[in-house]
Amino acid sequence: MSENRGVWVFSEKHDLALEILGKGRELADKLQTELAAILLGFNVQTKADELIKYGADKVYLVDNQMLEPFQIEPHLGILHNLATNNRPEIVLIGSTRNGRPLAARLATRLETGCVPECIRLSVNDQRILVAERITYGGSASARIAFRTKPQIVTVPARTFEKPQPSDRRGQVIRLDVKVEEPRTTIVDVKPVEASSVRLEDADVIVSCGRGLEKKEDVGLLDDLASVLGGVVGNSRPLAEDRKWFTEWVGLSGHKVKPKLYIACGISGVIQHVAGIRDSKVIVAINKDEQAPIFEVADYGVVGNLYEVLPALREAFKKRLA
Ligand SMILES: Cc1cc2nc3c(=O)[nH]c(=O)nc-3n(C[C@H](O)[C@H](O)[C@H](O)COP(=O)(O)OP(=O)(O)OC[C@H]3O[C@@H](n4cnc5c(N)ncnc54)[C@H](O)[C@@H]3O)c2cc1C
Repeated sequence: MSENRGVWVFSEKHDLALEILGKGRELADKLQTELAAILLGFNVQTKADELIKYGADKVYLVDNQMLEPFQIEPHLGILHNLATNNRPEIVLIGSTRNGRPLAARLATRLETGCVPECIRLSVNDQRILVAERITYGGSASARIAFRTKPQIVTVPARTFEKPQPSDRRGQVIRLDVKVEEPRTTIVDVKPVEASSVRLEDADVIVSCGRGLEKKEDVGLLDDLASVLGGVVGNSRPLAEDRKWFTEWVGLSGHKVKPKLYIACGISGVIQHVAGIRDSKVIVAINKDEQAPIFEVADYGVVGNLYEVLPALREAFKKRLA
């Protein structure tokens, strides 16, 4: 049987697919092989051209009404058939709510391995993919090499920089394939209440933790965030226990990469820090000088956030006026 060849990228989130293409291009160049994007959806032809601009040599396109909205079986069936017929070497899948189970089930069907939530990827001299991921609740990172192919990994949003688009040419292969029937029916889709700017996209995040006493005090963070053109984030207990928010930052929440992350009254245990370590600058405000957040902070203020936040706001307001 022929050897596995080619690097593939798939995400049902188009922006994430574009991001992953940058890393896919790097791996494909190192392996001297082609980079293909898999595009599954309905009325998605224009996205195929964009995938090429962002680095794909080839796009396998299935345009079918049954692919919208996302249901796992139709996507899985197509990816499985494509991979069985074309034998890629590496498959990079966007680590989303849909992408993670898709990758795991694809790996099971193909009887191969799957590494979820990879933060670094490289190939060694034996053409083996080496994937790195955070493990043990954020206190260690593991480097994992594959023993079977295709080598399937999932990649979270904002792990790799989106490449610059260029005027490249590529091949779009339209496939007219039988789409597997989904085994479930989507009865209803309701948007969840969320802030207007996604935390992953924010350049500035002012985040609060259990050091904040009352829900109304979130206003203090809102005030500073609005002066800095940022958004408010929070640690998990403020969402899970106090129900002030629906989302949080950290290992089990949003992994963020802002230019500036201000942690207010957050102790900075590993599960929180795992979600913020890629921030460019971290500022911590905490009244306990032993708080672990100061170990990862670039700047630290030991003090009461109820005094520090209004003072910071005034100082920035004057500075930015
Ligand atoms: C499997 C698992 C996954 C998890 N995932 C996440 C995750 O994704 N994100 C996350 O955040 N947590 C996560 N957690 C929870 C995590 O372990 C911590 O419990 C949580 O991060 C603590 O939140 P905190 O820092 O807000 O609260 P605390 O640890 O209670 O810290 C509060 C801090 O506020 C300071 N403080 C108090 N008053 C003031 C004041 N007036 N001024 C200044 N400072 C003050 C205190 O000194 C203290 O350091 C997870 C836990 C588990 C088990």
